[in-house]
Formats: sequence, C-alpha cells, structure tokens
Amino acid sequence: MATHHTKMLIIGSGPAGYSAAIYGARAMLEPIVVQGLQPGGQLTITTDVENYPGYRDVVQGPWLMEEMQAQAEHVGTRMMWDTIVEVDLANGSPFRAIGDSGDEYIGDTLVIATGAQAKWLGVPGEQELGGKGVSACATCDGFFYRGKKVVVIGGGNTAVEEALYLTNHSDDVTLIHRRDELRSEKILQERLFASDKITPLWNKTVSSFVAGENGALDHLELTDTVTGETSTIQADGAFVAIGHAPATELFTDKLPMDDGGYLLVEAGTPKTEIPGVFACGDVMDHTYRQAVTAAGTGCMAALDAERFLATLDFAKAEAEAAE
Ligand code: FAD
Ligand code: NAP
Repeated sequence: MATHHTKMLIIGSGPAGYSAAIYGARAMLEPIVVQGLQPGGQLTITTDVENYPGYRDVVQGPWLMEEMQAQAEHVGTRMMWDTIVEVDLANGSPFRAIGDSGDEYIGDTLVIATGAQAKWLGVPGEQELGGKGVSACATCDGFFYRGKKVVVIGGGNTAVEEALYLTNHSDDVTLIHRRDELRSEKILQERLFASDKITPLWNKTVSSFVAGENGALDHLELTDTVTGETSTIQADGAFVAIGHAPATELFTDKLPMDDGGYLLVEAGTPKTEIPGVFACGDVMDHTYRQAVTAAGTGCMAALDAERFLATLDFAKAEAEAAE
C-alpha cells in the first residue's frame, strides 16, 4: 500500500476531471487523477461527437477522451488506475481518500468529478439478462446484434442516438418511450423519424424482460401508459437508455446533495460547503450535462482550487511571521 500526496486530488477522468487536471498542472499543482472504472468517462461509450468545440468534422468520443488524457499528462498530471472507495473530509484540508487498490491519496484540495452512471429500469429480468440481451450501451454491445431485432427504451438524446447507431447493425430497431413525445434535440428527432429502420412505440413502459429457452432475452412485456393494456414485443437485444444518476454514494452524509443525489455547490461556482472541496461536471449539474459544460466547470474547479491554496499559503506565512 502506497501513499500519494498532491496539491490537487481529482476523482474522475471524464471531461471535467481532465480539464481540471490540465489547468491544475499548468498552475504547478501536480495533480493526481484517480480514473475510476471508466477512464475517459461517459464519452468513451459513444461514437460521434459533433458539438464539442474545436473540431469542424465529427470526432469519436473515445478518441476525444484519449486526447484529453494525453494533454493532461503532457502538462504534468499523474494518472492512477484506481477507484476511490472511501473519503475523509471531516477534518478539512488535507483530504484523504482510499483507493480500491489499498493506496491512500492525500490532497490539499479535492476536485470531485465522478460524473454519472446509467440508470436502470429496475424491473424483473433486467439485471439477470445483463450481457444476455439487456445492455445500457449500444455502442459497446450493438455489434452483437447484427441483423437482429433490437429495442431501445427512453426518449432523450441518449435513446435517440442509440437507436440511430443501432441502424448500423440492424434494420429492425424499435424505440419504446413512455410518452408520445421525445425529449431529445430536434435535429436528432428529425434523423430518427427519417430512418425507415426505426419504429417508435409510444406510451409504453417495460414491465419485464423475459428469457427464452436458451437463457437469452426473448421478449419484453409492456404496459400501455394510457390504456393500461399489456402486450409483448420480441427482441434479441434491449438497450436501456433512460438517463444517468450522479455517482455520489461516496459522499453520502459528507456533502450536501439535492433530491436527485447531485452535489450542491455555491451558485455559479464549483465550491461545495467544505472549503477546498470542489465539484464539477455531471456530478453537480443536472441541467446541462454536456462534455463542454463539464470541461468548463472542471476549469473553474481548478482555478478555485489554486485560489484556495494561495489563501492557505498566505495565512500560513502570516501565522509564521507573527510567531
Ligand atoms: P463522466 O464523463 O461521467 O466521468 C466520470 C468519471 O468519474 C469516470 O472517469 C469514472 O470512472 C470516474 N469515477 C466515478 N466514480 C469514481 C470513483 N469512486 N473513483 C474514481 N473515479 C470515479 N455530451 C456532449 O457534449 N456531446 C455528446 O455528443 C454527448 N454524447 C453522449 C453520449 C452518451 C451515450 C452519453 C451517456 C453521454 C453523452 N454526452 C454528450 C454527455 C457527456 O458525456 C457528459 O456530460 C460528460 O461526459 C460528463 O463529464 P464528467 O467529467 O462530469 O463525468
Ligand atoms: P434524459 O435526457 O434524462 O432522458 C431520459 C429519457 O428516459 C426520458 O425520455 C425519460 O422519459 C425516459 N425515462 C426516464 N426514466 C424512465 C423510466 N423509469 N421508464 C421509462 N422511461 C424513462 O437522459 P439522456 O438521454 O441520457 O441524456 C442525459 C444528458 O446527456 C442530457 O443532458 C443530454 O442532452 C446529454 N446528451 C447529449 C447528447 C448530445 O448532445 N448529442 C447525447 C446524449 C446525451 P420522459 O421524457 O418521459 O421524462
């Protein structure tokens, strides 16, 4: 077990964590990024990204995140392939975190950039059939359903993008949504409605995922949200795309959160109620949840961390001068 000390400890390696690292490293804070189970964050499970500034052509999510990581390392960030399992914020700076590896991380400041994770429906069969027909990532698993019948559940940007992506593999994609109107951006809706490979199924919720004799997904049982009628739909693959929940379990009873579990920060800043602890990206933002906003708040967290350390140094120097 090793102990790693840094002026800026960053938990999470999505656009927020990497942007904080780039700014922190350039301010000579020698940041450590603990990457977690998904190095690169959510964009590593998507394909086309066409709204991140700086690229006139569409770029690939995993490539973009590799570039961000390389940039952060290039300016002096240390990457740790570990997952934080415990944090101690009670005594103020320096903050202590323990990794799954058993390593201890001590940060004079702490930047929380743990993002969000896929939400599940929580209905029978969903977890049991994970990897056997039920998935939360079309770009990861869509390939396995080449030429087969697939469904996507949800009505937001993720669901529509997943459905569009799946048309690369399947001519028979059904989008199941609980209302009769999509939440996703209009441009994505237009693409969806223009596709002859995608059939929207409105006003339906999934009651269960049912296996066939081979133990893999065979069909879904549905309930109509207007009439209450039940029905079934055969599918070889089902992609749950109903949004994400912030990854904040680590901070339960340690930092204030809203009803959805998002970390609360001082309005317009990434400052949590504990001086020296900052939150950025999707973990504190239930409104925008974009790569560019995550990167922006990551930058803000690093700038505020730098100011916090400067204030600490100034206070220490004054105390020493007074002795
Ligand atoms: P995340 O990207 O969620 O990263 C969180 C990081 O925290 C991960 O590295 C994870 O491993 C780490 N972590 C979590 N817990 C721990 C722990 N205990 N210890 C250590 N590390 C931990 N946005 C766009 O702007 N354009 C798009 O085209 C776009 N497409 C998307 C497509 C999909 C399928 C999805 C799901 C999202 C998409 N988004 C898009 C949204 C965008 O990906 C997110 O807004 C952005 O990734 C949030 O960045 P983040 O850094 O806050 O967190
Ligand atoms: P989201 O916008 O929260 O949409 C979730 C969808 O799932 C909604 O349509 C919702 O229905 C439905 N849903 C939620 N719970 C459900 C349940 N229990 N049963 C059935 N349906 C349920 O989530 P998202 O699509 O993952 O997007 C998250 C964020 O990432 C957004 O800010 C989005 O803009 C961003 N994102 C951006 C891009 C891009 O810019 N290209 C791509 C992907 C994601 P209702 O509509 O009825 O609430």
